[in-house]
Amino acid sequence: MTAIDTRTQARNLLAEASAIFTRNGIDSPELDAELLLAAAAGVDRTRLLAGCWSADRECVRRFHLLVERRAAREPIAYIVGRKEFYGLDFEVGPTVLIPRPETELLVDCALKILRARPGSRVLDIGTGSGAIAVAIAVHAPDAEVTATDLSAAALELAARNVRHHGCGLRINLFVGDLFAALPCSHQKYDLIVSNPPYVREEDIAQLDPEVARYEPQMALSGGKDGLDFYRRLAAEAASYLRPRGEVIVEVGAGQAAEVAGLLEAGGCRAVETLRDLAGHERAVRARLAH
Ligand code: SAM
Ligand code: GLN
Repeated sequence: MTAIDTRTQARNLLAEASAIFTRNGIDSPELDAELLLAAAAGVDRTRLLAGCWSADRECVRRFHLLVERRAAREPIAYIVGRKEFYGLDFEVGPTVLIPRPETELLVDCALKILRARPGSRVLDIGTGSGAIAVAIAVHAPDAEVTATDLSAAALELAARNVRHHGCGLRINLFVGDLFAALPCSHQKYDLIVSNPPYVREEDIAQLDPEVARYEPQMALSGGKDGLDFYRRLAAEAASYLRPRGEVIVEVGAGQAAEVAGLLEAGGCRAVETLRDLAGHERAVRARLAH
């Protein structure tokens, strides 16, 4: 088949898939169709659009299966098994939350703090895919990072991302509930970061089907009022911080003031509320009070 034939065939396949996605309420039908056709063809999107691939029958069959999954609102990242975060490529799958671009703000803030504290120890609680821990380790090469998660399956995937980015010697992974995951030697940290589950239980069903049906409940549910995880983290964080140690936690809409209050009650002094590019309060930064 010539490149022109391939482009015509691609146009037809893409038009058919986009129409299905539009009928199923998907926001970016054309882009999603292109990403899935590229995945089925085993090429990147640029090569796909240039016609530098061939659509044999097997490729078309693969594409139709991927389209069916996306039409059922499975997230693209789970279908292709990858997601970019902080300019780095991560493996993702149904055992972990898909890292969100908003969470890059937490990494920006962490790196700013670490530049002023060389050789720091960092703790990432609820690391999921390992996105935050890896982004910090890659960009702060003198930091020593510990990352934990209650989900053993998530940590297995995080371990692959850690190896993929060559951070195996600088990121330690531990499975378990909050601070109980840590080995009993009472290590203290310069910085604790966390993007915890913070969605109110009753709100989960109203989230987009991509989130509500496919992402792990354990990564989303912050209990009745969404604040369960912060309550527990704030009560213990101070005893795991070195002098002038800091905490940065991502928060959901409308949670910043309450989370700052919890951290203050736990012995920290709230320093700053960070806003994302859309102007929404997105993270709270606090420092050990003494
Ligand atoms: N840090 C990742 C990110 O930003 O993409 C994942 C964040 S996800 C919102 C929250 C993570 O916390 C999930 O991986 C979940 O398994 C983990 N988690 C939930 N409860 C936990 C607990 N009690 N102790 C430790 N981790 C927990
Ligand atoms: N930001 C996620 C969402 O869009 C929630 C993740 C979390 O609970 N930390 O639903």
